[in-house]
Amino acid sequence: MGEIGTAKNPLRVAIIGSGPAGFYTVSNFLKKKELVVEFDMYDRLPTPFGLVRAGVAPDHQKDKSVQKAYDKSAQLPNFRFFGNVEYGSDISLKDLRKYYHQVMFSTGAPFDRDLGVPGEDLEGCFSATEFVAWYNGHPDFADRKFDLSQENVVIVGVGNVAMDVARMLCKTHHELSVTDVADHALSALKNSKIKNVYILGRRGPAQAAFTPPEIKELGEFEDADVTVPVDEAKVDAASLALVEDDKNALKNINFISEYADRHIEGKSRLLTIRFLVSPIELMGEDGKVKAVKVVKNKLVENQDGGLKPVASEETEIIPAGLVFRSVGYKGKPLPDIPYDENSGTIMNASGRVVEPDGTAVTGLYTAGWIKRGPSGVIGTNKTCAQETVALMLEDLGSGKVNVPEDPSIRGAEALINEKEGAVVTYPEWQNIDRSELQRGEAEGRPRVKYTDINEMIGVAKS
Ligand code: NAP
Repeated sequence: MGEIGTAKNPLRVAIIGSGPAGFYTVSNFLKKKELVVEFDMYDRLPTPFGLVRAGVAPDHQKDKSVQKAYDKSAQLPNFRFFGNVEYGSDISLKDLRKYYHQVMFSTGAPFDRDLGVPGEDLEGCFSATEFVAWYNGHPDFADRKFDLSQENVVIVGVGNVAMDVARMLCKTHHELSVTDVADHALSALKNSKIKNVYILGRRGPAQAAFTPPEIKELGEFEDADVTVPVDEAKVDAASLALVEDDKNALKNINFISEYADRHIEGKSRLLTIRFLVSPIELMGEDGKVKAVKVVKNKLVENQDGGLKPVASEETEIIPAGLVFRSVGYKGKPLPDIPYDENSGTIMNASGRVVEPDGTAVTGLYTAGWIKRGPSGVIGTNKTCAQETVALMLEDLGSGKVNVPEDPSIRGAEALINEKEGAVVTYPEWQNIDRSELQRGEAEGRPRVKYTDINEMIGVAKS
């Protein structure tokens, strides 16, 4: 066959997961112009783009514009998309090894972390992951019900996902109706009776995980005030010393201080951002959550020089008929792939999949959240994929690739044809895309999403 990566013998790469890390894997390979690569990208959904479609908030359309760059890669003749194909059920590692020299896993982190406090199983307590997927029209979550007739909602955690959830709960129908929020969420949120939204941070404003543009947005609602208790907005000397060179943290502190000083105008909703409080119990009645019991924290230096929250004796009860825990995402193990339960990631060394003893598994790689954990913004995946692709190229150069039984482009097609149910190709996804955009145009919205897999497939094949 000759050298791999030539016109006669292209490098065959399978990418599992079509989110940012998957697409940045393709674009990083494309920089190596002399190398001939054929990419097959698989996704368990009929639609590509992962969290750009199902995670990025509907009112953050600018962040979704990266799709244009992904689209460019997808139009290349050496790129194929196979949607509605799930690794682990429709295709296996054995299958992939039969047809590809290299396999890259970029399956993200679809699970969420627990709080680990009593009452988490009460009705009305959800992960932010579920709510985000619901309002973004993810087909697996489209039929979820959230009781928006409640007046008080608590969101635990002060990361950017908590910011997204808070915005969705505090914005008016008018503000949401110009976004691509799923139709079912738009109408449910229109009838929302929510009056008070509380965001709970277990440490202080200096340690908050949100970023300045996101905290700034919380002060710009059409019909919701924002406030922070004055004593909780204050930053202690130890925290200040730790962030004196951290521009983002200093900006965050300023926004929080401004919100603490702000006059509450009496708008329909009030968003209260709390600091130095940790939930210790979700309290219920008749199986439904009614309140969150929190304990006040103090910050104490930890071993690595940072500041950790330590509970005081002081507790408080915050009424809440709906609770969202937004304390981070977690990876999901993949069949036959070494997985580290502690970090919730595929075992890897800078993107090379490794066995528990550190030995590299030939031909297997990973990028994105399933490689490094759920951190960073979309662009972080570019450098993450770059690191992995560098290793893929290094291994190709030294001949450390999987030796597929049938590296032909038709071989993989046979694999797909064997699968039960429809497969959605990229041109077929474009049918869905066009239709969603048209539906959106008719309503003055960026797009109106399909949220049912069968309907998506129907439109894809039309
Ligand atoms: P995150 O940034 O890791 O924030 C998690 C938050 O949960 C932190 O405030 C953390 O506090 C808190 N927390 C963790 N365990 C807790 C517990 N047991 N009790 C109370 N609080 C707890 O996670 P995320 O918000 O899910 O975001 C994931 C990633 O996506 C981040 O990199 C984020 O920036 C990114 N993202 C970006 C955007 C955007 O750019 N607009 C939007 C959404 C998400 P501690 O710091 O004290 O641990």
